[in-house]
Amino acid sequence: MPELPEVEIVRRTLGPLVGRRIEAVRVRCDGVIRGLSTEAFSAHLIGHRVRSLDRRGKYLIIGLAPKTTLLVHLRMTGRLTLAETGAPISAHTHVQMALSGGGELRYEDQRRFGGFWVLGEGTPPPGLATLGPEPLSDDWDRARFLRQLRHRSGPIKAALLDQRLVAGVGNIYADESLFAAGLHPGTPAQSLSEEQVGRLFVAVRDTLRHALEHHGTTISDFLDGTGEPGQNAQELKVYGRRGLPCEGCGAPIEKTRLAGRGTHFCPTCQRPAASAKER
Ligand SMILES: [Zn+2]
Repeated sequence: MPELPEVEIVRRTLGPLVGRRIEAVRVRCDGVIRGLSTEAFSAHLIGHRVRSLDRRGKYLIIGLAPKTTLLVHLRMTGRLTLAETGAPISAHTHVQMALSGGGELRYEDQRRFGGFWVLGEGTPPPGLATLGPEPLSDDWDRARFLRQLRHRSGPIKAALLDQRLVAGVGNIYADESLFAAGLHPGTPAQSLSEEQVGRLFVAVRDTLRHALEHHGTTISDFLDGTGEPGQNAQELKVYGRRGLPCEGCGAPIEKTRLAGRGTHFCPTCQRPAASAKER
């Protein structure tokens, strides 16, 4: 499912959208319009020009002139792509926005967990107000991250998934970052040393940057704004590699359940804290 790198790739590849006017809106599935009626949603968009494309965590933020702000969250299987007018739609095409100059912006979502919000209208997007810092910006501070982890008794994997601590990390990049840092995902967050947190801080940034360089991870669904898949799946060291040999030590990658999520790790390179002490 799309995490920070994938949403950022969508943002970048939707660049041609800027300057275009939304001329018509067709909503085929009301459920993906969140917090306001389909009619109100369309009225906020039609005749407005796209002036900016931004991202915050896993939210894509589309600024419309004169003043509407449209938010999109892709959740599990959402896709936002530019398509030719009249190109065949799929069974999961839920929203079409016709653009000035031809073509349209399409929203597809097989599972329908994602959707659109208009900022300031109806129900606010969940978690937006409490989103933590962007991990690839200077706003993310290592010392503050360490202090925050000192107050958390749960596993470090759960802390990485908490969007209030750091925005945009999901299941794939949490597992990959913990592998890169050599930390077992079940390690209690508050037990990590300053050195370990420092390693994790660097690993999260490196893992996200690497995924961006490889155009995001396509396991089954992710496509960029032009309909192209990412190339980062081949780069993954643990996620989705249960039973395959670890590239570092050859031990089979294991999968367990932590923080309600499937969690992949190398039992040798990422030893639990207790057995690390025993050695
Ligand atoms: Zn290993």
